[in-house]
Amino acid sequence: MPKYIFITGGVVSSLGKGISGASIGKLLQLHGLTVNMIKFDPYINVDPGTMNPYQHGEIFVTRDGAEADLDLGTYERFLNIYTTKDNTNTAGDIYKTVICKERKGCYNGNTVQIIPHVTNEIKKRFIAFHKQYNVYIIEIGGTVGDIESLPFLEAVRQFRIEHNQNDIYHIHVTLVPYISSSAELKTKPTQHSVNKLREIGISPDMIICRSEHHIDNLLKKKISLFCNVHESAVIEALNVSSIYLLPEQFYLQKVDMLIINKLNIKIAKTFNTRWFKKIKINQKYPKNNIKIAIVGKYTGLKDAYKSIDESLKIAAVTLQSSINIIYCNAEQEDLMNKLIYCDGIIVPGGFGHRGISGKLQAISYARKNNIPFLGICLGMQCCIIEFARNVVNLYNANSTEFDTTTNYPVVQIINEQKNVQYKGGTMRLGSYKAKIKKNTLAYSLYKTETIIERHRHRYEMNPKFINTLEKHGLIVSAYHNNVLPEIIEVIKHPFFIGVQFHPEFDSRITKAHPIFVGLLSSIIQRKKQ
Ligand code: GLN
Repeated sequence: MPKYIFITGGVVSSLGKGISGASIGKLLQLHGLTVNMIKFDPYINVDPGTMNPYQHGEIFVTRDGAEADLDLGTYERFLNIYTTKDNTNTAGDIYKTVICKERKGCYNGNTVQIIPHVTNEIKKRFIAFHKQYNVYIIEIGGTVGDIESLPFLEAVRQFRIEHNQNDIYHIHVTLVPYISSSAELKTKPTQHSVNKLREIGISPDMIICRSEHHIDNLLKKKISLFCNVHESAVIEALNVSSIYLLPEQFYLQKVDMLIINKLNIKIAKTFNTRWFKKIKINQKYPKNNIKIAIVGKYTGLKDAYKSIDESLKIAAVTLQSSINIIYCNAEQEDLMNKLIYCDGIIVPGGFGHRGISGKLQAISYARKNNIPFLGICLGMQCCIIEFARNVVNLYNANSTEFDTTTNYPVVQIINEQKNVQYKGGTMRLGSYKAKIKKNTLAYSLYKTETIIERHRHRYEMNPKFINTLEKHGLIVSAYHNNVLPEIIEVIKHPFFIGVQFHPEFDSRITKAHPIFVGLLSSIIQRKKQ
């Protein structure tokens, strides 16, 4: 029987339940166990794909094409796993399934209710992977006390009763705020939040306290007493300079052994701390400092570009560099002033015409001044527009996403997208193979001909213009099925590359993605000149 670790959050949202869960997952992996993580989000959207990144942060894409919560990216990077549609669940999708079943008459004339029909559907998804892994870490999004969370917590309560107590562990992540005027840490919000959980019938086994100050033993005792948790299971989670240092913080507080003992898990005696060392060494003495700009529309919220941010940090560590990521709003007038202080530029994915002219300006600047540049998805499409307009002189060349009547539709809607009516889950989504041409920048980075990368788009480079653009120096270096352009490069430039896919979804803590390593390496080289 696999083991289940549930993670809930209290007091406020965005406490890093995903990072805490993934750090614990990493520790269990280092003990030799196989671990997977499943996310449950209590909102009514069927998936986050239709949400504005400002509402939700980045939309992560699984290999099998689910548009998912960004926590899945954290799970993949930490645990080096590939998540699937079964790793992501929302209230919307669960209700949709229940209502569809009702319409089909699957409930034999019964009144359909939250308990048991919705809770049964939730519980079914807790065990979606059956016995494939030793441990499942199940993260319930939102905050305890929210009206939307109730069916999920009720399902957790039922699941605990229906299973052996030694198979289930519950972790509650809370905030212990610091009141500066009285120089005090306050435990009351944690007490209230745990009370709320206990009202529902769940008593946590461990409390992870997010705090900006050290939580001493006295405070731990107090939390333990009021929250009915053993003192050793009150864990401090301070801010760390890199989230990848968190597993070690937890290890030092014996988080792994508390869980392993309670769950009665048999493990090998030796625990290998080499992983911690590997993470730390490269961070300690950076040899270079890189300043890189991300020019986008959602720059007010870092989480909107979470996987790019992490991919850059991981690549920087690999190259023993420190990195300063400057978020530049493509719509702001002072954009170019900011860019001149940066060593490299990324134009990330996006939708809609807002901010396009700023992105085109940034691309022009990078192209003309040999600034290392990476365009991702919309960023690549903008490279094609910029090059067509300014090098090939195709006046007002555009993507039909922004101008349906342009004389030069260098980017156009993909054929099978033309008749799509519904917005949610209908883009070209998930992994596709691409074949890279030899003697290209792309080949020098990947060092292989066939790659698999994840997609999320409706538009593509218009094949009619490829010849013309190639004659002027913008080449297509990879195709899907010999037809769909996947990578473009500007040849007379040290590093100018655009990718139709999202390389940022495939970085791993100990395995940086070649595109990001290539970008940062070229920056380092240029700085040396
Ligand atoms: N809006 C563009 C498209 O749909 C780019 C999408 C993206 O950047 N993810 O093709």
